[in-house]
Amino acid sequence: MSNTAPSAERTETSPGETHHQNGRNGHTAFIPVSQLEEMIQQQLREERARLEREVGIEETTHTHFRRPEERHFTKDQRPHTTVLFGGLTWKHERILQGSIAGLGYKVMPLPNADKQSFQIGKEYGNNGQCNPTYFTVGNLVKYLQSLEGQGLAKQDIVDNYIYVTAGACGPCRFGMYEAEYRLALRNSGFDGFRVLLFQQGGGLDQAGLEAGLDLNIDFFIGMLNGMNFGDLLLDISDQIRPFEVKQGETDRVLRECVEYMYEVMKARQPYKLEGKLADVMWAKTPGLANTTEFLGKFLRQLFSDHFVDGLRWCFDRLNTIEVDYLRVKPICKVTGEFWAQTTESDGNFNMFPFLDREGAQIVREPVATWTSYLLNQGKNEARDRRGLREGEERPHWYEVGKQARRELDFVKKLAMLTLAGKIYNREYDRLRAALGNKPHALVNQLELLRVGHPYYNSRAEGGEGHLEVAKNIYYSNKDLCHMVLSLKPFGCMPSTQSDGAQSAVISHFKDMIYIPIETSGEGDVNAHSRVQMALGEAKVKTKNEFTRVLQETGRTLDDIRAYVAAHPEMHRPAWKISHTKGVVGTAANFVKQVAALMDADEKGGRLRKLQKVAAMF
Ligand code: SF4
Repeated sequence: MSNTAPSAERTETSPGETHHQNGRNGHTAFIPVSQLEEMIQQQLREERARLEREVGIEETTHTHFRRPEERHFTKDQRPHTTVLFGGLTWKHERILQGSIAGLGYKVMPLPNADKQSFQIGKEYGNNGQCNPTYFTVGNLVKYLQSLEGQGLAKQDIVDNYIYVTAGACGPCRFGMYEAEYRLALRNSGFDGFRVLLFQQGGGLDQAGLEAGLDLNIDFFIGMLNGMNFGDLLLDISDQIRPFEVKQGETDRVLRECVEYMYEVMKARQPYKLEGKLADVMWAKTPGLANTTEFLGKFLRQLFSDHFVDGLRWCFDRLNTIEVDYLRVKPICKVTGEFWAQTTESDGNFNMFPFLDREGAQIVREPVATWTSYLLNQGKNEARDRRGLREGEERPHWYEVGKQARRELDFVKKLAMLTLAGKIYNREYDRLRAALGNKPHALVNQLELLRVGHPYYNSRAEGGEGHLEVAKNIYYSNKDLCHMVLSLKPFGCMPSTQSDGAQSAVISHFKDMIYIPIETSGEGDVNAHSRVQMALGEAKVKTKNEFTRVLQETGRTLDDIRAYVAAHPEMHRPAWKISHTKGVVGTAANFVKQVAALMDADEKGGRLRKLQKVAAMF
C-alpha cells in the first residue's frame, strides 16, 4: 500500500460498529462497518487507479456488443439489392446462384475465403473463436472492403447488399456466427449491414427476414436441388479425375456441367396455379388455391424430369472423358467438421487439390449427409421427448385425453420426419440414377448411429456430433477407403471431443489409417507433410492389395490391359466397377471384374466350340 493507506486502527466493539481511533488527535469515534467498508473500497480504487496510471494501463470503459435493430429488407428493395452468400464449394454456389436468380433475386456468391479473410476475421471479430468463424466472417468483410475499393460508397454497400447465412442456436460456436458477423461488420465500419439467418434447426427465421427474401417452398426446393446437384457432380468428378488420361479434362468438363446446371436452374419457373378455374379458386377459396398450388409445386419436384434431364446431359458430357482404371490410387475419405471438410480454400490448407496432386482418390462428404443427419436427429429428439411438452407437467395416469393428444403429436411428428427422410432419399437416388448411379448413395443414418454411438453419444449434438467417429468406422469397415483424413478446425469444440473418442476407435480397429489434421490460418507445410506421410502408408497398402488381387486372378497385368484395350466401354466413366468384399482400391476391384469377365468369355468360347463339335455329329 502507498502512503495514502489509512492510519486509523480499529477494534470490534459491538455488532455493526467499529471502534475507530484517529491516530492524529487521539479522539475516538464509532463508525458503522458499512461506512468503513466503503472507505476501504474507495481507497483501494484510488490506489488501483494510481498504480494503473504508473504502468500505463488505465482502465477504459467497455461498450458491450448488443444485437443491433436491423433494418428490414423489403420486397420493393429486391431489384437493387444483391443477396450475398457463401461457405460451400464454387460448384454448389454457382448452381444455387442459378436457382435463386431464377426466383427473381440479384444474387452473388462470395469469392473463396483465403488467408487474408482469416486475418481480417481475427482483426475485427472476437478472440477465441473457431477457425471457420474467422474465415467466413473475414471473407464477408473482405468482400465488402473490395466493393469499397472499387469506388462504391459505404452507405451504398450497406443499403444495396445483404448477406444470407445458416444459423443455429449452438450448442457449439455455430450459435455465435450471427453475432460475430454483426460485430465484425460494426468494427470494420459497415454498421447497419444486414445479415439474414437461415435457421438450421426448426426451419427458417422468417421474423428476421421480412418479405424481401421470401423463404417459401420455391426457395426451399431450389436450395435443396442446388445442394444435391453440387454434391452429385462433385462426387462423380472425384471418381473420374484420378483416372483421366488427359490431365485437366475432368475439371474442364465439370465447369461446363456446372454452368449448364446453372442455366437449367435459372430457367426453371416456379409452378403456379393458373387458368380460368384457378382464377375462380383464388377468388372464392384462396386457402384451397394455396394448398393446391403448394401440392402442385411439390408433385412437380417429385415427378418432373426437368432437372433429371439436365443431369443426364452432364453425364453424357462426363462420359466423353477417357479414363484408365488400372492406375493404382489410394482412396482417401475426407471427414471432419462440416465447413473444414467442404471448403476448397485456405480454410483447410487447400487439401483437395493437394490430395489430388499427391495421387489420391478422394471421397468427400456430401452436404446431403448433413441434411439426413438433421432429419434423423429430429426423430431421435421426438422419441426422447415423447409425452413431454415444454413448460407443462406430464399428465397423470388418469388424464387419458391429454396423454392421447401427446401420443398423437409424437406419432405425427415421427411420421412427418420419416416421410421427409424417405422423400429426400428418393430424390437423391433419382438424381444419382441420372448420373449412371456413379455417385455414392447416402449412408444410412441408423447405421452411422449404430457404429458411432458406442464411442460418441449420439445425443451430444454440435458440429458433426457422432458422425466424425461413425464415418471413420463405417468407411474403414466396409472396405470403402484406405485411409481417413479428418479436417478439424482449430478451436472447434465438438471436433476436439470426437478426437478423444477417436483414440478408442483406433485402438479397436488396428488396421485403420486415420489422420486428424487441425486446420488453422497457418501451418500448411506441416499439415501437408503429415498428410503425405499417412498417404505414403496408404499407398503401400493399396499397392500390396493390387498385387495380391492380381495374383489371385491368375492373370498378368498385360493380359488384363489387352482385354481392356479391346473393350472401349471400359475406358469411359459410365463403366460401373463392381465392388468385391475385402477389396478397397478402384484398380484392384477393376482387375477382379475384368478377370471374371475374361473367365466368362473363355468359358463361353469353350462352350461354343463344344457346341460346334457336337453339331458335326
Ligand atoms: S463445429 Fe466447430 S468449427 Fe464448426 S462452428 Fe462449431 S465449434 Fe466452430
